[in-house]
Amino acid sequence: CRRNAGEPEFLQAVQEVLESLEPVVAADPAIEKNGVIERMVEPERMIVFRVSWVDDAGKVQVNRGFRVQFNSAIGPYKGGLRLHPSVNASVIKFLGFEQVFKNSLTGLPMGGGKGGSDFDPKGKSDMEIMRFCQSFMTELCKHIGPNTDVPAGDIGVGAREIGYLFGQYKRLQNEFTGVLTGKGLTYGGSLARTEATGYGLCYFTREMLADLKNESFAGKKVVISGSGNVAIYAAEKATELGGKVIAMSDSAGYVLDESGIDLALMKQVKEVERARITEYAARREGAVYTAGSKNIWNTPCDIALPCATQNELDEEGAKALIQNGVMAVAEGANMPSTPAAIAALQKAGVLFAPAKAANAGGVAVSGLEMSQNSMRYSWTFEEVDSKLEGIMKGIYQSASSAAAQYGHAGNLVMGANIAGFNKVCTAMIAQGVAY
Ligand code: NDP
Repeated sequence: CRRNAGEPEFLQAVQEVLESLEPVVAADPAIEKNGVIERMVEPERMIVFRVSWVDDAGKVQVNRGFRVQFNSAIGPYKGGLRLHPSVNASVIKFLGFEQVFKNSLTGLPMGGGKGGSDFDPKGKSDMEIMRFCQSFMTELCKHIGPNTDVPAGDIGVGAREIGYLFGQYKRLQNEFTGVLTGKGLTYGGSLARTEATGYGLCYFTREMLADLKNESFAGKKVVISGSGNVAIYAAEKATELGGKVIAMSDSAGYVLDESGIDLALMKQVKEVERARITEYAARREGAVYTAGSKNIWNTPCDIALPCATQNELDEEGAKALIQNGVMAVAEGANMPSTPAAIAALQKAGVLFAPAKAANAGGVAVSGLEMSQNSMRYSWTFEEVDSKLEGIMKGIYQSASSAAAQYGHAGNLVMGANIAGFNKVCTAMIAQGVAY
């Protein structure tokens, strides 16, 4: 704790995992002897750097850039880049730590990493975004590579930013490689990567509903926080599976649309115009906007999918959901539920799918993008989507059987942590004390 003082998000993520691992550590003395836990909570490397760039007024701006290379026991470091003013060492470390377990759960050979900057993309011109990305990559390129560390997108980093980052990497290194994922389709991107996290979340939720409650999305009211990449494609797949998405949000407020969110309009507003969700409400008859994004949890629903950011669903939100009879909560964002919210949901018997299992579809398809780049070949949308579906089913099975093995059947938080840990632990012990 002392070494990570002032890093509350990182400590929160570590505490949750370590609590789940208690029975595993107790059952296998080799874990303690090899210092596996102590090594796992300390990143292999943390790079912090200055990012200076010139704004449209000709003034030099300075931000802080980060890349944490957390664990490479089972493959090259892999994890997204986040551009948001709230980014700091604690946020990047919590995300990198979670990524280690998530990547392991996919079954693909990927270690864990994460990065980003406290740069705020909101209100910036295209040229400002480009100059920032070029400056960021000028330093980051010294530390990454297709066999070393393969970053991707996250909050504030979508196709446009990945394009600028990739272009600058190629220019500096003079090589065309799969060093980033989430690339455009014309230069090595994978079909279905854009949809993967949201679709994967719904595939996982479908498995959980069927296995633990003999239920499905059909006819269910669904509430989804956020209106970014994960939220939009979760809404698309939930609708396809028969659910009705009635509310979505951004960081300022939420929109309630009882007749079911119009996805074409939502995509136009958020993806094309990069406008606020108030714009959706203004153009859609019957939609009602309410300020305050956390108020979204007061909306009565059967399934809630938090897909915005960390700690967005607190105990109060969880209690409102429970009171309104929610059946399942599945995390699309990383660590969106506070520990108190998770405890309240589990105590009330609500099905709960933790992020590191439920939102692993994005990184899984990133792993498939790496495979396609290595083969210099592309799979069709249907091929990638069907592999994604298989991977999400596999993750559900691993988490569910690990929970049952340790006497906590149905506790997918424990199950995901244990299943993700086992593979990394075995690989670390096999490779000796290298770090
Ligand atoms: P985007 O940038 O596309 O969208 C983020 C959304 O969350 C926006 O609607 C944003 O609203 C909202 N948001 C951000 N901060 C807050 C806040 N403090 N309170 C309420 N809403 C907020 O990001 P993604 O959709 O890619 O990522 C969303 C989450 O999913 C993150 O936790 C990310 O780590 C996680 N994730 C993403 C993956 C991916 O493939 N993209 C993979 C796995 C996890 P506004 O526009 O107002 O800021």
